Amino acid sequence: MSSNSFNSRALLTVGEKSYEIHRLDSVPGSVRLPYSLKVLLENLLRNEDGHLVTTAQVEAVQNWNPREVGHHEIQYTPARVLMQDFTGVPCVVDLVAMRDAMTELGGDPKKINPLIPGELVIDHSVIADVFGIPDAARQNSELEFQRNQERYQMLRWAQQSFSDFVVVPPDTGICHQVNLEYLSRVVFTRDGADGVVQAYPDTLVGTDSHTPMVNGLGVLGWGVGGIEAEAAMLGQPMSMLLPEVIGIKISGELPEGTTATDLVLTVAETLRETGVVGKFVEFFGPGVANIPLANRATLGNMSPEYGATCAIFPVDEETLNYMRLTGRSEEQINLVEAYAKEQGMWHDPENPAEYTQVIELNLADVVPSIAGPKRPQDRIELGDAPATILSILHGEGVITGGNDGGVDDASADSFPASDPISTSSGHAADEPPRHLSREQLTANAKLGWPSNPVDVVIGDTPAIVDHGDVVIAAITSCTNTSNPSVMIGAGLVAKKAVEAGLVTRPWVKTTLAPGSRVVTDYLDRAGLSPYLDKLGFNLVGYGCTTCIGNSGPLIPEVSAAVRGEDLNVSSVLSGNRNFEGRIHPEVKMNFLASPPLVIAYALAGS
Ligand code: SF4
Repeated sequence: MSSNSFNSRALLTVGEKSYEIHRLDSVPGSVRLPYSLKVLLENLLRNEDGHLVTTAQVEAVQNWNPREVGHHEIQYTPARVLMQDFTGVPCVVDLVAMRDAMTELGGDPKKINPLIPGELVIDHSVIADVFGIPDAARQNSELEFQRNQERYQMLRWAQQSFSDFVVVPPDTGICHQVNLEYLSRVVFTRDGADGVVQAYPDTLVGTDSHTPMVNGLGVLGWGVGGIEAEAAMLGQPMSMLLPEVIGIKISGELPEGTTATDLVLTVAETLRETGVVGKFVEFFGPGVANIPLANRATLGNMSPEYGATCAIFPVDEETLNYMRLTGRSEEQINLVEAYAKEQGMWHDPENPAEYTQVIELNLADVVPSIAGPKRPQDRIELGDAPATILSILHGEGVITGGNDGGVDDASADSFPASDPISTSSGHAADEPPRHLSREQLTANAKLGWPSNPVDVVIGDTPAIVDHGDVVIAAITSCTNTSNPSVMIGAGLVAKKAVEAGLVTRPWVKTTLAPGSRVVTDYLDRAGLSPYLDKLGFNLVGYGCTTCIGNSGPLIPEVSAAVRGEDLNVSSVLSGNRNFEGRIHPEVKMNFLASPPLVIAYALAGS
């Protein structure tokens, strides 16, 4: 129980129920704090014990100086831990080993148990081996179970043996999307020591770098390593420095024809120019209300690509709408609204918080874009794509990796587990985004496309594979498949294409791997699945697949041509990372794009 030095403990009544809360207004001056720091302040008030969490830590947040931070250490206690199978299994194995050790010592093994809820989603193991046929998902799922039988049996045993530990089975969805649509409470409730139910902000750490996707729902969380996650599960607070908080002031609305993907690539480019490594990012301002929750989640998802610890939205009406849409109970939704309003955590565009730095972003300035070929911040306006790719094939404007310990290297090091980035310095060591001038692009275009055509026969179809061809087109990744507007957009592009008699190019491996079954449900109900199937975008499974590099083999004839002639070919995917080698070892260039553009590139083939 909290020491309650600030006399913050109080009751909040919502409907018939009363909850114990820790009032933020018991700490004078807290009203000026950004949303994310209010979450940390509540965390300290509730967990203050005079030993690990002290009044001095509460005062450090109270006196947070936006321009002079980084010296004060606090102890943060997340409400829960999220895991995926690549990085989460070792955590569970450790817990199992601790139980064994306890037994050997003559103790009660059941005393080894998570103290805060742990949730593990099995999503990283499915591979898109089979594609382009109606049965692809079932066949891939069978292969997955054959390959991972022992691991899955162990996880099932763990779910049955540990209390407060939930496993979401394979072939269900991607951890961050499941977290967003189902697991997140936004306001957490738990029985307190004296039998009173406590209510407090839902917070988490996750053993995956894209954990901040749930920031879109106002839930503070970020990726950590397995050891930290284990410690958190066993009730240890996490040591952290009070961060700088960068505010992104949103105005305007996205223009017609632009998507959340275009927006997130624009934000990635902007924030990598700014340098936000180790900082919190927070969205505020009049335009926040114009950003649907799904787009907010896309923006939160790519925090590691910005270099930021998190990128969070405060709670507002849109948060409640999304909770209602995803089937959360009215009781929970009412609690979230009442709690956020009572604690001054409800978004108020008229009264912005203090921030270390404010960046203005007018949504009306966003244009259709892709990003690549190796870094998510290298945004290319769609109209400039042919000339830019041409210059890359000519060896100009190519990004050289350099081992400078920056965000890109950390991202590459995290492969294949999508583990958290490890950079912690106050600035990004990476190169800023590349800019090629329009004149340069035009000059390059006049040079002509480098060509080394290779004749292949795919099935019965003769084709030519060349430099710059798209050999993988993947609608993949929690980043975008969580977003109904871009997924419906992809379905509509497919419908138009089929109606116009278009077909995808035979050298393109086409896959659809959504982050939850909700996606296929609404595509079916909208009557769009048959068009996606017709273009070869049959469901290949519910999981990370191409995004984590589980792309499966290229079309064999294409693979032979690429290897035989050292062709520089590309993938187009709706993911978040694209460093060389992440998507497929034979594919050097990887472009991030919205799901509708993935379809368009599969039709174009180049
Ligand atoms: S889909 Fe991609 S970003 Fe999302 S959890 Fe899987 S590997 Fe990570």
